[in-house]
Amino acid sequence: MTDRITTKELSRMIAGAATRIRTEHALLSELDSHCGDGDHGAAMLRTVEKLEKVFAGNIPPEFKSCLEQAGWNVMEADGGASTALLGSFFLGMAEPLTAETRILDCSELAASFEAGLRAVQKQTKAKAGDKTMMDALVPAIEAFHRKAQEGRGMEEALAKAAEAARAGAESTREMTASFGRARFLREKTRGYQDPGATSVALIFDGFHCGLLGTEGESEHG
Ligand code: ADP
Ligand code: MG
Repeated sequence: MTDRITTKELSRMIAGAATRIRTEHALLSELDSHCGDGDHGAAMLRTVEKLEKVFAGNIPPEFKSCLEQAGWNVMEADGGASTALLGSFFLGMAEPLTAETRILDCSELAASFEAGLRAVQKQTKAKAGDKTMMDALVPAIEAFHRKAQEGRGMEEALAKAAEAARAGAESTREMTASFGRARFLREKTRGYQDPGATSVALIFDGFHCGLLGTEGESEHG
């Protein structure tokens, strides 16, 4: 059981997320063709490329600088809404950490995730139920926090977060959109999962698989 992580494990988590996004990028664009302008798969491919660059080669042992670099790089990945929000998430994750933090336990990672969520919430008023990435992000982070409070290990907490994100993303299928480009399409978006929520679910599933060392073998297709 992994109870504490270094930036090496974070790098594996990022690699896991990149694998999941690469496998599903065509689906992400297809969903965005129904809910927006069809570019979400391409935006997410650029996002994971930027993330991988930060975590390639000699990874800095300090979480704060890794996460800040990740945030800034993702923000400039693309001019779209999702990259701005995901960039804010990584930047926000760095906020509660000191410059020297080199190890995170489950509660510390939960606090970092929660700070990431707060940073996103400063950028958007969308809440769970509005058919955006928040439908996956909010329950994922709540689930992770709950497991951390129960004293569970990192892998179990990430598994639960991934499960909650997937359920949240699936719940967007029957919603009508009121934020982002999808708000112009409203009823027409019904029947399609929100692209950004789908990406967040893939990212958390990838985090979990990456930590376990089973990236590319997700049981969730
Ligand atoms: P763009 O809409 O700029 O083309 P993307 O296609 O990359 O950006 O991302 C679209 C996704 O971004 C949506 O599916 C949704 O999850 C998320 N999103 C867009 N606008 C908002 C918003 N105002 N609040 C929360 N999430 C948003
Ligand atoms: Mg788009």
